[in-house]
Amino acid sequence: MLSHKQLFLLNTAQTSDFPRLLEIEKAEGCYLIDPTGRKYLDLVSGFAVSNLGHRHPNVIEAIKKQLDKYLHVTVYGEYIQAPQVLFAQKLSSVLPKNLSSVYFTNSGAEATEGALKLAKKFTNRSQIISFHHAYHGSTHGALSVMGNEYYKQAYRPLLPDIHFINLNNKQQLDDITSNTAAVILEAIQGEAGVRVPDADYLKALRTKCNETGAVLIFDEIQTGFGRTGKLFAFEHFDVIPDILLLAKGMGGGMPIGAFIASKKMMDVFKDNPILGHITTFGGHPVSCAAGLATLETILAEDLMSPVEEKEKLFRTLLKHPKIKEIRGKGLMLSIQLDNFKQVEAVSKTCVENGVIIDWFLHCDNAMRIAPPLIITLDEIKFACKVILGAISAH
Ligand code: PLP
Repeated sequence: MLSHKQLFLLNTAQTSDFPRLLEIEKAEGCYLIDPTGRKYLDLVSGFAVSNLGHRHPNVIEAIKKQLDKYLHVTVYGEYIQAPQVLFAQKLSSVLPKNLSSVYFTNSGAEATEGALKLAKKFTNRSQIISFHHAYHGSTHGALSVMGNEYYKQAYRPLLPDIHFINLNNKQQLDDITSNTAAVILEAIQGEAGVRVPDADYLKALRTKCNETGAVLIFDEIQTGFGRTGKLFAFEHFDVIPDILLLAKGMGGGMPIGAFIASKKMMDVFKDNPILGHITTFGGHPVSCAAGLATLETILAEDLMSPVEEKEKLFRTLLKHPKIKEIRGKGLMLSIQLDNFKQVEAVSKTCVENGVIIDWFLHCDNAMRIAPPLIITLDEIKFACKVILGAISAH
């Protein structure tokens, strides 16, 4: 009989020659547990997904309740499904008034795809402006607005009429014109190695979009659901987008995403053609039930308030001559080192010593810190000790 590792390498698609190859038997709270019972402190959260920790009891209970009622019943937007409507209502109740119409998807990339289509249809324009080092997903449309040629070159032709500008460069805002359908931007750039925009830059961007009629899309797929210390990162900057993209932390570990806009904007999907955007599984009732429980728990347990103190502790403890910079906001942090070889070696040593950290797609000399929001101060102290030891060793 082949081992799970052999089957993994043989029958599941491989996208790199150096997968982490950690077998997971169980996950609970801030820990992943392997088949020998060894526990690993998770500082990655399944890539900013497990904000509540793994298998939060409220999420598990909501999933179990929904399992006893129904699973998939029809394509999106036809039947009234309580988990969908209640989750959509809860989301709109915590968002600004203009973000009241929720289109549920299965993933972040699908949210990006839907939002790009919506902006084009709403404005009757085609140009999309995106940012260098941006990441919005890996499907063709999302890949077209990715700001890294390395990942795109093998897949051309991609979408036409995409233009890239630099974050925090106010002069380049003049590239946004009355031909621009949308400007798409991560509220805090994630895969770029965590780059926080200036608040006054975002305000100027908002003004430019208002002047030109371009739709402003904020991708909060990584920053949403409390990760940065606010429910959504745009709250730090006091700038409200026209379309908001969500996924990752949204489902408490279940797959779900959404793009959210005004009812007026979303209504353009209704005609010419009707069914302007279609999904079979988007807004799956079990994922929506899990999502509603996740959002209610984040709010009820006020998981956002302690985030700033936890960020401070990481920043205080992570002092080392080899650390060049710590960037980020809340529990979305990046430790800047020298090069990829060092990052990979440090990450490997951390995992060997029971702490899971990882790297970024567009910034290969930095390490990702994105633990569940429920991480304790003692767990942070342990994690930092392991990280500093690994950095000293490499
Ligand atoms: N947008 C951002 C900012 C992301 O970080 C990601 C995933 O890492 C995506 C979009 C794509 O989400 P998904 O992997 O669910 O398609």
